[in-house]
Amino acid sequence: MAGIYIHIPFCKSKCSYCDFYSCTSTETIGRFVETLLCEIRCRKDYLSGETVRTIYFGGGTPSLLSIGQIRAILETINDVFAPQPEEITFEANPDDLSPEYLAMLAQTPINRLSIGIQSFDDFQLRFMNRRHTAAQAVRAVKHAQKAGFDNISADLIFGIPGMEDSTWEANIDRMLSLDIQHISAYHLTIEEGTRFGQMAAAGEISPVPDETSERQYAILCEKLDKAGFEHYEISNFALPGHRALHNSSYWRGEPYLGIGPSAHSYDGHQRDVCTADTPTYIKSIPSPDIFETETLTQQDVQNEYIMVRLRCSEGIDIDDFRHKFGEKSLEKLHFEAQKFIQSGLLEIKSGHIYVPTNRFLLSDRIICELFDI
Ligand code: SF4
Repeated sequence: MAGIYIHIPFCKSKCSYCDFYSCTSTETIGRFVETLLCEIRCRKDYLSGETVRTIYFGGGTPSLLSIGQIRAILETINDVFAPQPEEITFEANPDDLSPEYLAMLAQTPINRLSIGIQSFDDFQLRFMNRRHTAAQAVRAVKHAQKAGFDNISADLIFGIPGMEDSTWEANIDRMLSLDIQHISAYHLTIEEGTRFGQMAAAGEISPVPDETSERQYAILCEKLDKAGFEHYEISNFALPGHRALHNSSYWRGEPYLGIGPSAHSYDGHQRDVCTADTPTYIKSIPSPDIFETETLTQQDVQNEYIMVRLRCSEGIDIDDFRHKFGEKSLEKLHFEAQKFIQSGLLEIKSGHIYVPTNRFLLSDRIICELFDI
């Protein structure tokens, strides 16, 4: 099993919190797509022997692509990799999702939409420099459903400076009223190099206190649990049968091929990262010089395994861990995990070591202590 990730590095404007690689000048989209098709063909051997089951259009803003460009990308992937996709996800911004665009998108093999809503509060949306309004977000979801999409995910952000719990509750309620199948909820982080990073450096904003984060996360978990969503990863919630297959394959450590500037690829042993610079990308493909390669040691692979598994509700499968890293590593893991098990931050059941979902926010602290064992 393998996945293909396509990075579309264009946005109409930059959101204040975002540190993903994208540029706001869209005039090179046509040349970029030609280059992307070339990269797909050049990297035909990367996933040799693996069946591609998931494809993910992320960014940036994939919904800036025309339907013709989307079709060209999917056709090239088909020719090169003969995928058998169970899930093809397309990230979209609400302001791009007109009924006409959605009707055409629904005619492509894309079968899952991930819509960047973030908030239903217009003041917060402006504060984060999002391009859409709450009303546009609601319309986008309704139009998508009307066009036939029945596997829709949407993103929300909590921990926004100045956001009251009551606003957060209203955001979750509004999301639930839309009858979608998957919700991703992320805590706002203030990253260097972003607008919020500059504002924090100037003393204009500061991160919310931990208690606020914990309270808002608890509100989220409780409401989504009541609504029947499975909390299957620290930031991800799905109705039964609607977990994100592509992201789940990352968390299982399966190989994936990333196409486009700043995209990562992983073959089980090494990670390749493409340059985060679109003009260089367009100029240089098919040269391999624009990739940085990191060869992972067995310890790196084990650390990553612990990190991603403890952020998922299933946690670490003890037999699988033993099989991958050996009996000695498992003994060390058991030894180091003891103090967390005693304090209730880790549990062991049915052959799995896991963080109880109500402690997920503390998982980074636990993971750090289980690194390099
Ligand atoms: S959050 Fe999405 S739309 Fe906003 S700048 Fe980042 S990639 Fe672009």
